[in-house]
Amino acid sequence: MNFLRTTLSAVALAAFAFAGSAVAQNKPTVGVAMPTKASARWIADGDNMVKVLKERGYGTDLQYAEDDIPNQLSQIENMVTKGAKVLVIASIDGTTLSDVLAQAKAKGITIIAYDRLIRDTPNVDYYATFDNFQVGVLQAQSIETALKLKEGKGPFNIELFGGSPDDNNAYFFYDGAMSVLKPYIDSGKLVVASGQTGMNKVSTLRWDGATAQARMDNLLSAFYTNKKLSAVLSPYDGLSIGILSSLKGVGYGSGDMPMPIVTGQDAEVASIKSMLRGEQYSTIFKDTRDLAKVTADMVDATLSGKTVEVNDTKTYNNGRKIVPSYLLKPVAVDKSNWEKLLLDSGYYKKAQFN
Ligand code: BGC
Repeated sequence: MNFLRTTLSAVALAAFAFAGSAVAQNKPTVGVAMPTKASARWIADGDNMVKVLKERGYGTDLQYAEDDIPNQLSQIENMVTKGAKVLVIASIDGTTLSDVLAQAKAKGITIIAYDRLIRDTPNVDYYATFDNFQVGVLQAQSIETALKLKEGKGPFNIELFGGSPDDNNAYFFYDGAMSVLKPYIDSGKLVVASGQTGMNKVSTLRWDGATAQARMDNLLSAFYTNKKLSAVLSPYDGLSIGILSSLKGVGYGSGDMPMPIVTGQDAEVASIKSMLRGEQYSTIFKDTRDLAKVTADMVDATLSGKTVEVNDTKTYNNGRKIVPSYLLKPVAVDKSNWEKLLLDSGYYKKAQFN
């Protein structure tokens, strides 16, 4: 009897194990194309995507292109050749992928734009991202609150930085921020001493921190030798670090030159540390675990012929079609709430900030 029970359970176990691996083997490979490892957020995105997809039994092919467009193109071509059934793409330049995506579509591959919209092609099926306009709103609101603009304080000098002009998100961030800041600029409570406004003047190619730092250096020497700067709209932590080092270079953050209010995005560890030192003022947290989950849900639904869940069908026109999107909520982070948002949620560990 004992023997029988043992044998039976061994058989059951083997059958279960077989079923398990059969399921895993049957699930196709998902190609995940990420832009760069230069920023911690994309490393977290790639890791989270692979983790969730593997947990659900998919094969994964994760590639980083180090911000090189031809490199990303050939990585995606490879994924198509190797038989990926879904492509999850965070593009470097959202307008350069049309040809490879046409090839992918011809093979019946589903294409999901991840965080950044893929533009100028009908061959993008879904878009998983955060509410990008709201990111800009939150960044600007942190300036509004810190400078007490609602209470009528001012005038203050401010300078504006935008993201990469080939990233659709950059325009949403900028427009969201300007929806809050423009009334103050119009009324004279905020003064852009350089006069540089508009994405054509303030953008930062490839989100490069050194480029932002160089522009801040130029602005400071051209317009602020006898004026104080009170705020800098920065759309991304990697730019904020460059901007802050330029500001420190001319004495801000010491003596009678308080550090201007500098915003950011992505809640990267280096920027949270800067915040704790009293340098960067705020950032925006976008939980990449949630984005990975929403994207994996899209993969599951599309491969099992179910309806893909989206919550926005009007905002993201890519020049060829409105791409059905799922928008997650970004959250503003400053010294007052970072522990609750970033540590209590398990996103980071306390030891990373020692
Ligand atoms: C992302 C931001 C990120 C930026 C630079 C944008 O597309 O939405 O989270 O800060 O790229 O990597």
